[in-house]
Amino acid sequence: MSINQGGITRRDMLRGSALLVGSSALGALVGCAPSAEQGPEAQGGGQEALSQTAPSFMVAPDPVDESQVTEVVVADVVVVGCGVAGLAAARSAQEAGASVAVIEKSESFNCRSGQYAVYNSSIQRANGMDYDVDAAIENLMVCMGYRADQRLWKLWRDSSGEAFDWFLEPANGDVDLLPMDAMAYGSASISLQPLHYPAPEAYDPANETWPSYPEASFAFVPSQRPIMELNFKAAQDAGVDFHFATWARQLIRPNNEGPVLGVIAQTKEGGYVKFEASKAVILAAGGYGHNTEMVQYYTGKALECPMWFDVDANGEFTNQGEGQMMGMWAGALMEDGPHIQGNHSLGGALGVDGFFMCDLAGRRFMNEDAGGQQLTNRLMRLPGLSCWSVFDDDYPIHVEFMGCSHGSVNHVVSADRLPGLEGAEMTIGRHAITSREAVEAQSLKADTLEELADLMGLPADAKVRFLAEVERYNELCAKGVDEDFGKSSSRMFGILKAPFYASQVAPGPMLECMGGLVIDSESMLVLDTAFAPIEGLYAVGNNMGGRFLVDYPTTLAGMSHSTCLTFGYLAGRAAAKA
Ligand SMILES: Cc1cc2nc3c(=O)[nH]c(=O)nc-3n(C[C@H](O)[C@H](O)[C@H](O)COP(=O)(O)OP(=O)(O)OC[C@H]3O[C@@H](n4cnc5c(N)ncnc54)[C@H](O)[C@@H]3O)c2cc1C
Repeated sequence: MSINQGGITRRDMLRGSALLVGSSALGALVGCAPSAEQGPEAQGGGQEALSQTAPSFMVAPDPVDESQVTEVVVADVVVVGCGVAGLAAARSAQEAGASVAVIEKSESFNCRSGQYAVYNSSIQRANGMDYDVDAAIENLMVCMGYRADQRLWKLWRDSSGEAFDWFLEPANGDVDLLPMDAMAYGSASISLQPLHYPAPEAYDPANETWPSYPEASFAFVPSQRPIMELNFKAAQDAGVDFHFATWARQLIRPNNEGPVLGVIAQTKEGGYVKFEASKAVILAAGGYGHNTEMVQYYTGKALECPMWFDVDANGEFTNQGEGQMMGMWAGALMEDGPHIQGNHSLGGALGVDGFFMCDLAGRRFMNEDAGGQQLTNRLMRLPGLSCWSVFDDDYPIHVEFMGCSHGSVNHVVSADRLPGLEGAEMTIGRHAITSREAVEAQSLKADTLEELADLMGLPADAKVRFLAEVERYNELCAKGVDEDFGKSSSRMFGILKAPFYASQVAPGPMLECMGGLVIDSESMLVLDTAFAPIEGLYAVGNNMGGRFLVDYPTTLAGMSHSTCLTFGYLAGRAAAKA
């Protein structure tokens, strides 16, 4: 007997032309179906328009035959993947009374970095860290052109604080909230640090075109590994059955009808294991940043330098899109693209602060106040894929008036307080605090703008243009109105006081592609291509659709981890009660 049954099988593909020609509706699709290279906008959702041109990741492999199964594992809930989302789902489901088995292809759980955006957690309440969460969500939605599912964001608003408190529970209160400018770890086993709180006095998100909310975002320092270890131990103690070095291959859903009944997985030695799930399967297998075909199909223009550290038990990068694929093969609906590439720039020596910027031809080109993601979007389309940030010697005063988003720098302190937290650089991205020494180490410095242009290597015509642009910019600063690009008047600081500095700014590295299976925000169940819930199938973390689309908003730093945690926690409970 065949266990699996994909959405479109290889055999269907071979039969493809005959099937398509035989149906007038489908026949029409043959004529207009765009190629995979044209991407999802052209496809109008891709999955609906399957034809001979369907990309290979949508094609289900042949089902694994029952006779190949050498082991059977039985649980109420089977979780695929053990990152932040999978671990949260597993611990949550087990605590809600279900027996849980986790399938993870690495030797252990995975996580990286450690920023979290939260609303209404105990720590925030105790420290008066309140903010206008509805305004923040509105901004997120605007940044994503309302393609994301606002019901999910409402759910996040109502549940992220509770989920974050629950995530911290295994630390038994041994948690230090360090001040933003702390340069040494606390004595507790878990250290948290706000990214931009307290914000500079002049900062008010209500006055910002690209607001961010300093009260929302924390970083676990040096990373979230210690709190993940405590959660892993809590899950183990509660009885979760972890299967590491095991690859989930297919979902069990005969004829793609009815509920999902389990997962077929494979061990490192190649043996097949059947995981039977009496209540549900939760897909938490992460993103697809290292699946080139999916990246090109769903996100279009891609950076060629995806950054990912986690590897499976065979040494391969973990983020291959297997969760999304297994879902699609079982009849689930993948959300329309364009999906996002999280590749927000962290800027130059002064981060993404809104100082004068020019392209490599010396021209000013955008409102410098936009966030790091918007900056990357633009830089990816500029010759040389980079620009210059130029500022004068009063920058330590000016940074106090800059924004507070991912990558903003707001304070220049003496060098003896830096470099600060050892190993924390990757953890908290760009710290809001820097020193003159650190800035100068990353900048070119000259006593005149002409000399600076020479150091920047600008050809003669670009040098002339650059000097003219600075002159024009200084005039606008004197007027207090950016007539060219509309930057906030409060950040129009002329480039007047020598020495002058230039720091090169590049797009951010591609952290992850986020786009997943469409879910119902009430039941948390995955939907099929007719928008009907698939019983017994949940998707969380980067396997879940509806969170981010087109652009990763930098309104709240740490949104990906936070939504992985919150929806993992909620889906675990829902699955246990199914
Ligand atoms: C350097 C870096 C820094 C980042 N910093 C931040 C930050 O500060 N804030 C933030 O919000 N986001 C950040 N992100 C993004 C964020 O880490 C991820 O988007 C998020 O954690 C993904 O969590 P997840 O649980 O969905 O997936 P993952 O963490 O990728 O976990 C998925 C798990 O599933 C396993 N898996 C995959 N396929 C299979 C299979 N077939 N069978 C079994 N197991 C499988 C994988 O091995 C993996 O362990 C960062 C990303 C990078 C690369």
